[in-house]
Amino acid sequence: MTTRRKKIYEGKAKILYEGPEPGTLIQYFKDDATAFNAQKKAILEGKGVINNRISEYVMTRLNSIGVQNHFIRRLNLREQLIKEVEIIPLEVVVRNVAAGSLSTRLGLAEGTALPRSIIEFYLKDDKLGDPMVAEEHITAFNWAATQEIDDMMAMALRVNDYLSGMFGAVGITLVDFKIEFGRVYEGDFSRVILADEISPDSCRLWDTATNEKLDKDRFRRDLGNVIESYTEVARRLGIMKEMPTVIQGGVH
Ligand code: UDP
Repeated sequence: MTTRRKKIYEGKAKILYEGPEPGTLIQYFKDDATAFNAQKKAILEGKGVINNRISEYVMTRLNSIGVQNHFIRRLNLREQLIKEVEIIPLEVVVRNVAAGSLSTRLGLAEGTALPRSIIEFYLKDDKLGDPMVAEEHITAFNWAATQEIDDMMAMALRVNDYLSGMFGAVGITLVDFKIEFGRVYEGDFSRVILADEISPDSCRLWDTATNEKLDKDRFRRDLGNVIESYTEVARRLGIMKEMPTVIQGGVH
C-alpha cells in the first residue's frame, strides 16, 4: 500500500512525490519503458525494482568517492528518498566507445573505441526531441553558467572513470551513459550535484567478452531478455540478494 501524497512530477520512467521533510522528495521507479521520444512504449515487469536498486548502489558508491548526489537512502523496493534539486535542463552524455546517435551522426561503426572520452550536452525538451547543444547555447540561453558547465564536466569525467572501473571489474564495458545534474541552494550560493538515476536505462553496458548488450538497447532494438539482462548487471555487481521476487511483479 502506498499512502496518498502529493505528486510533484511524473516522467516516463519515474514519479517524484513530496518527501517527509522540506528539501526532500521521494523518487518512485516505474516499470514503464519508453524509447525514441516515447514513440515506443512497454511495461517491463520488475524494471523499476532493479533500477531503484542499481541506482542506489551506484549513487552510494559515487558518494563514497566524493561525487555529491541527490541520493539519501532507499525506502523500499521501488522508492528512494532524495534531496530536492532544481534540475538543470540538460542531459550530459559521456562516451567511451561509438554507439547509438554518435555512430549515426558521424558514420562510426558501433564498437569503435573513441580516441578519448567525449562529453556531449543535450537539451531536455521532449517536444524538440532533446537536441544536442553546444556550450555557447547553454550559456547564451542561461540553462547553466560557465562555472556550472565546468563542474558538470569535471564530475561527469569522475563518474566515467569510476564507473568504467567498477563495471570493468565485473566484465562489463561502459560504452556510454547519460547523467543529469541539479542545483542545491545554500543561502545566496548554489552548488551542482548529480541527480536523476544511473541504471541500464541510462547507460550502454556491453559484456566485455562477448559484446552482448546488457542495457536499454535490448528494448530499443527488440533484442529480447531485457529484464534478464538488467538482472545480470545487478547480479554481477553483487546486489541481487534481496531481489528474488522481482520478475513476478506486483511489488509496490
Ligand atoms: N540516453 C538516455 N536518455 C536519453 C538519451 C540517451 O539515457 O534521452 C543514454 C543512452 O542510453 C546512451 C547514451 O545516453 O547510454 C547516449 O545515447 P545516444 O545519444 O546514443 O542516443 P540513443 O541512441 O539512445 O538515441
